[in-house]
Amino acid sequence: MKKIVIFGPQGSGKGTQAELLSQRFHMVHLSMGEMLRYEIQHKTVLGKIAQKYVISGKLVPDPIIFKIIKRHIFDKEAKKNGFILDGYPRNQRQQKDLESIIKITDVLVIEITDKEAVARLSGRLTCPCGRIYHLKHRPPKKRGQCDFCGQKLYVRQDDTPKVLRRRLKIYREQTAPIIAEYEKQGIVKRVDGTPSIPEVFAQLTKALG
Ligand code: AMP
Repeated sequence: MKKIVIFGPQGSGKGTQAELLSQRFHMVHLSMGEMLRYEIQHKTVLGKIAQKYVISGKLVPDPIIFKIIKRHIFDKEAKKNGFILDGYPRNQRQQKDLESIIKITDVLVIEITDKEAVARLSGRLTCPCGRIYHLKHRPPKKRGQCDFCGQKLYVRQDDTPKVLRRRLKIYREQTAPIIAEYEKQGIVKRVDGTPSIPEVFAQLTKALG
């Protein structure tokens, strides 16, 4: 059973690809960003703490993140079918926390430049159900509306150029180095994130074997 972590800077298509992979391999897609937005939207205790970090593009404190991930990683479906983790771990502490509860089998890395990342995110649209669209690269069938659930699409508050630059900096400084740790375990597969969504998807499925 596969227990996958997917990495990539903001705008690399990581969330979209994780969603596609989870459908293809019938795994659970665990998106930390989505879990946090859910907690925030539902004004839970954890959501209230997380909100100010998410809006300003800073990392939410590790103990809160660990509480949320433990809740989801051991749910029935994830245990039975495996999972693909998207947006976690994001620093060394989180990597150690994760290691203490589960053994990861595959690590996927989608690579794009910061310049490309900024260009792409300036057109991103998000649905409350978690699906992601892009004005140019992946437009919804009906303007402003999700193809699957019909809800209204919105532009994320943290997709502004200033906040985005901070998020990219955190990725380069804190997240990218932990990939080196997985390299030592020989489980990392890197793919080029610049081609189209189907092409990147084909590379990823091939990498998973
Ligand atoms: P994302 O949708 O993955 O870009 O995540 C959006 C925001 O949620 C980030 O900018 C952080 O504020 C927060 N976040 C997501 N994942 C984590 C994590 N693993 N650790 C801390 N904060 C996180």
